[in-house]
Order: sequence, then structure tokens, then C-alpha cells
Amino acid sequence: MEYRPVERTGWNVSALAFGCMRFKDEDSAVEAVHKAVELGVNYFDVAPAYCKERSESWLGAALEGLDRSQLIVTAKSSPGNGGVEIGEFQPNRGFGIRAADDARRQIERSMKVLGVDHLDMYQFWAVHSEDVFQEGIKKGGFLEGVLLAKEEGLFDYLGLTTHGQDDETLHYLQDSPCEFDMVTIPFHLADARRVRTVEYCAERGIGIVAMNPLAGGRLARSAPVLASIAEELGFASLVEPALRFTAHYPGVTAALNGISYSNHAVQGAAAVEKGPLPENVLDALRKRLDELFANVSLKHLCTACGYCGECPQGILIPQVLEAFINLRIPSLSEETRAQIAALTREEEPGWDPSLCTACGECQSRCPNKIPIVELMAEAAQSWPSKTL
Ligand code: SF4
Ligand code: SF4
Repeated sequence: MEYRPVERTGWNVSALAFGCMRFKDEDSAVEAVHKAVELGVNYFDVAPAYCKERSESWLGAALEGLDRSQLIVTAKSSPGNGGVEIGEFQPNRGFGIRAADDARRQIERSMKVLGVDHLDMYQFWAVHSEDVFQEGIKKGGFLEGVLLAKEEGLFDYLGLTTHGQDDETLHYLQDSPCEFDMVTIPFHLADARRVRTVEYCAERGIGIVAMNPLAGGRLARSAPVLASIAEELGFASLVEPALRFTAHYPGVTAALNGISYSNHAVQGAAAVEKGPLPENVLDALRKRLDELFANVSLKHLCTACGYCGECPQGILIPQVLEAFINLRIPSLSEETRAQIAALTREEEPGWDPSLCTACGECQSRCPNKIPIVELMAEAAQSWPSKTL
């Protein structure tokens, strides 16, 4: 495993980092973490709400018996969508971490569930909008509590995570009352726009953790269109080139891969160890993906993260968005039309975009700023009928 130095923390971070948002159960989580550690992965990112609030306890179970001094364990929360057990969940406002004391309680709760008496880093999580940023930095608010906990030694370094574009992220970094040591941003083959943030951080010794290296799992899916691009370029799937691209992009410290099972850790480590993609392969790959995304706007690339929550009309938002995207890809369109028609005939709930009332609740929670209301209306217009 290759390790990258982060000047601000003095850490050497493994080029493959472990995202704990895709665990399936405790046993497979423990096995996956242990396999990853065996392969040299040393960076673990967890959050209270992941895996229906089980991720922290499952990572904690995996940490038992491991040498913590060799690992970087980072937890996070946010006034936007962060903690649990603090206040009532309110749509658009999150779990109620509004005051410094609440932030402190949230950090202690995470440490207790993880079974640790010290964290390596704590992160201002999901800074997806100016509202969340301002709420977080206000006097007596979230960040004040986090910084106090840092002074008291609960953790060593401070991170920030955001889905913002360069202008927004640079504003968060430059206009915050404190400095951040690591920044986590989306950066992958299908969306490598945040180059200025990578450069800014690299110049200042701030670590860059690139999340969604597989575009929220999208590049790893077994869609025929993706399989044919991979095959054409000599890969079994797009997983390997996608991880190699992100992990080896100049200035990126680590590719944060959401890992469910130990074989994902094996596959990820093997991919990253192959080094950067040869330039001609990368050029061909990006050309083919550009063609693909000529039919599907990047702005509509749902990553199935689930932050949009439950639709009051029962619409399965990520699934309907994915089907709608597949309808637009010529090679997938026919098969997708038939699948939707079959689901409609079987009266499967959640598959009817025409039920959308345009309430906008989901859209306001989407970190990728997907225009869900607009897409539901468009989908309703072109949705295949059950008589197909
Ligand atoms: S905007 Fe439509 S899809 Fe989104 S929550 Fe409201 S009804 Fe559901
Ligand atoms: S619509 Fe947005 S919030 Fe919902 S799953 Fe897709 S990317 Fe996530």
C-alpha cells in the first residue's frame, strides 16, 4: 500500500481509505475492516447516521483488538444532517446540533459507541450549503463546541466534508473561524471538476480525501453500457480504473471507498496498487464516459446516498431517478422500459413519478443538488406504461 504524507497532521495516509457507510452487518463489517488493515489501509471514516445508525458500533467492534496507534479513525457530525439522539429530526434542518454543548455531546456519544477514548480527527460534516456553514460557525454553535473538545484533547485534527463546488468549498475553507487539516470532497472519473480545491489544499499541506471514487457506486454497477466500456479498455469492470484515477490524481491524499465486504477491500487495494492509469487509457476512458454523459447530465447523477429521505408520496426517489437516467441511455433504454412496465403491471409501490406533488422536501436535502422535482415531472411525461 502506498502512503501519502499530510503536512498539517504529520500522518502518512493509505492511498485507499475506508468509508464505513456501506456496511451490511456486524460480522461482515468486522471482517472487511480486518482485511483492509491487513492490506495496509489505515484511514477509517464513519458517521452517526450511516447504516441506519449501526456503522459506528460495527466499526467499534472491528477496532477491538487492533493496534489503534497504527490507524486513523475519524468521526463527524453537522448541524445540517449530522448527529443522532440530539433533538428531533427536522426535515431540512437535521438532528438539531445547534449549540456548542450539543456538538460536544455528539462527539462523546460517537466515542462511546466506537468504544474509543480518543479520536484522530473530527469533521464538520456535510457542509452542503451556506445555511449549514453559517449555522455551524455561528457564535456558540456547532464549531465552537467542536473546537473546545479539540482543545480538551478529545481529538487531534479537524476536517471538513462537502459536496460543494470549488467556489463554495474555497469559501468554507477561507472564511471559517478556524483552519481545517483535511478536506473530503467528491472526485471521480465522471466528475473531476473540483481541481482548484485539490490544488489549494495540496499547496497548503491540507489532506484531500476524495469521496465517491466510484461515483456513488454508479461506475461499479453492472450496467451493460459500463461493462462494454470497461471491456473495450481491457478491464473486468470500471472499478479498477475508477479507483486508480481518483487515488492517483495529483494532490489527492486518498480515495475514500465505501466498503461492504472484505473482497471489496481486496479489490480496492489491488486496484490502487497498480498505480496511475497510463495516459492513453485514461484519455480513451474519459472520452467514452464523456459520450455516455452526453446523454445524461452530470447534474442528474444520483449517487443513491439516501440523504433525500422518504418521499411523502412513497416514491422511491433514487430508484426512479436511476431508471429515468437509464431510459435516456440508448443501449439501456429498451430493457429499462420493459422493467418499468413490468413493475407497473405488478403494481409495485414507489415507481410512479407522476405522484410527485413537487413539495421539494427531497430536493432541499440532496447534497448533489439534483433537480428532483424537475426530473420527476420529466420522468412522468416519458414513463413507460404497463401495457408495454
Ligand atoms: S418533491 Fe416529489 S419526489 Fe420529492 S419528496 Fe416531494 S413528492 Fe416526493
Ligand atoms: S436524489 Fe440526491 S439525496 Fe437522493 S439519493 Fe440521489 S443524490 Fe442522494
